[in-house]
Order: sequence, then structure tokens, then C-alpha cells
Amino acid sequence: MKSSPRSFLNSPEDNIAIRLDGLSKTYKAQGLSKPKNALKDINLAIPAGCIFGLLGPNGAGKSTLINILAGTVIKSTGRVTVWGEDLDINPRQCRANIGIVPQELNIDVFLTPHESLEFTAGMYNIPRKERLTKEILEMVGLTEQSHAYARTLSGGMKRRMLVAKAMVHSPPVLILDEPTAGVDVALRQKLWDNVRSLNDAGVTIVLTTHYLEEAEELCDHVAILNHGKVMVSKTKSDLLKSSGRKDLSVTIPESQQNQALPDEIQSLNPIMTSNGFTIRFNPEETSSGDILKQIGNAGIQIMDVSTYQPDLEDIFLDLTR
Ligand code: ADP
Ligand code: MG
Repeated sequence: MKSSPRSFLNSPEDNIAIRLDGLSKTYKAQGLSKPKNALKDINLAIPAGCIFGLLGPNGAGKSTLINILAGTVIKSTGRVTVWGEDLDINPRQCRANIGIVPQELNIDVFLTPHESLEFTAGMYNIPRKERLTKEILEMVGLTEQSHAYARTLSGGMKRRMLVAKAMVHSPPVLILDEPTAGVDVALRQKLWDNVRSLNDAGVTIVLTTHYLEEAEELCDHVAILNHGKVMVSKTKSDLLKSSGRKDLSVTIPESQQNQALPDEIQSLNPIMTSNGFTIRFNPEETSSGDILKQIGNAGIQIMDVSTYQPDLEDIFLDLTR
């Protein structure tokens, strides 16, 4: 997609798209018996150019965080910077740096995608010549539907339409709150492709999700929020490595299955299985290859081998239980 000079020319300081320093939010609505601390001293740096997943169980504070960025919730304390613009010092510019894809499908069914984008561009006072309506529709795969009425679009297309609307002012950062909630598996894949191509075009993506497979498949960085606090914020690969465990399972010949294992294998604390055993080890300290070598050296014949490393779901449960 062509990018507007305003948003893309100046990379943010330190290459950080969104920076949150000591961000807190206390809801003090009437009707609440006591104030609710929805966000507690959040410190987060979201790198420019990444796909960032904000995960957390219900009530963790994800929407509060996003709504502060969107400007619909007022923060209690802390500093928010988007693409180098401070929310307190330059709120308009700060917000102009973000496009938000809301969870609800609020689409004007009487407009075609083309009309809808033109209308939105008008609201942003974008001169006709600078509008990117065609490019954006192509980006989200709605070229064919450009002039179809929105009510004839499928659910997945409507969601892509919301992505398109959020991109009209060419924000460098796109935020999606639960983009695939209630979207079936096939459409989910299409939306993921969409998000990836926007990211390839240079857009920083922040998404909240409770589908861990979504984060595992899409995100380069992941933060896990629980009870208003950041439990962890890491690259996905570091996070997956950080669990500190990996399982290596071997199948051994039947003739060896009912024999006692040699001492050097016993010392690895094997877990017996129906056709062999499993060794649980710390991948930061040793490797599958080393363990296989030890098994071979102990005179055990290996018929088959498999490994299992905890996925995001295992780690998520460990951190939020
Ligand atoms: P998530 O999006 O992760 O599910 P939310 O940000 O919606 O979490 O909510 C975080 C906490 O703040 C929850 O305990 C929720 O009940 C509370 N909360 C959210 N919005 C309000 C509000 N407008 N007034 C009072 N409490 C709220
Ligand atoms: Mg929410």
C-alpha cells in the first residue's frame, strides 16, 4: 500500500511503535462498591514493524488498554506514546497514528465498500487525490466487492471492511480487538493472511485475542496480561523457549521394554511409556541430540523418536493459573 508521508516518513524514537510507562487505570464509576484497578503500572514497549499479541484471560485489562489508546477511556496515571507522539502533549496526532478495528461489526449496510471508504476519508479531510480507496480495498481483498452493498457481504468480508476503514488515514499502527472472535476457521485464515500482508507493507499490528493458536501463528511478540499486570512480554520464540522444558520420547524394541533401564538413563528421570520412555529436559541446558547419544551409548536401541515442546497455551496456563 502507498503510505502517507505524514505517518511513515518519521520512524518513531528507538523504533518503538507504542510505549506505555507506568500506565494505570482505576475505574471509579458510581455503582461500583470500590474502585476497580483495571491496569496496574503497565510498562510495555511495542516494537515498530511487528505483529504484537496482547493476551490474557477475561477481565485482564486488554480492552481497557486498547480503549485508552483509542481515546474512549481516560487513563489514571502514566505516559502513553504512539509513534513518538505523547498522548497528553499531542492527543490528536497521537490518535491519528492508530487505526482501530473494533470487535463489533458496525458497518453501514447501505454503503458499498468503495463509498464507505470515501466517506471515511472525507471525515478525515483527506483530499480526493490523496485517497487510497482502491489500494486499501485491494489490500484487504475486496476489489471485486467494491461496489456491492455491504449487506450482501459475508461476515468475514465485513470484518475485512472494518480493517479497510481503520486504514483510511494510513496509520502506522493498526489495532485489532479480538479480530476473529466468532469467525469460523476458514475465514480466520483469510483474516490472518490479511493481517500479514498489512504487516508486510510496514504496518505495526497489535491484536488482542484469546485464541492462543492465533497468537502462536501470527505474532512475533507476545505480552500476557493478568489482573491488570504484564506477566511477561517477549518475542514469541523467547517465550516458547523460556518454559524450560521439552520432552523427548523414544520407542525401544519389545525385547528391551521389560528390562530395567541402565543407571545412566535412570539418572535422567525417565517417565515410562507403553513402548519406551520419555525424558523431560531443559532445552537451554542440553539438546535432544545429546540425550539421544546418551541413550545410544547406554546400549539401548532406538526404534522411533519424537519431541514435544510446550506451546503458547501451556505457557499461558502456567502464567495465569
Ligand atoms: P479484558 O478486555 O481483558 O477482558 P477489560 O479491560 O474489559 O478486560 O476489564 C478489566 C477489568 O476492568 C474487569 O474487571 C472489568 O470488570 C473492569 N471494567 C472494565 N470496564 C469497566 C468500566 N467501564 N467500569 C468499571 N469497571 C470496568
Ligand atoms: Mg476485552
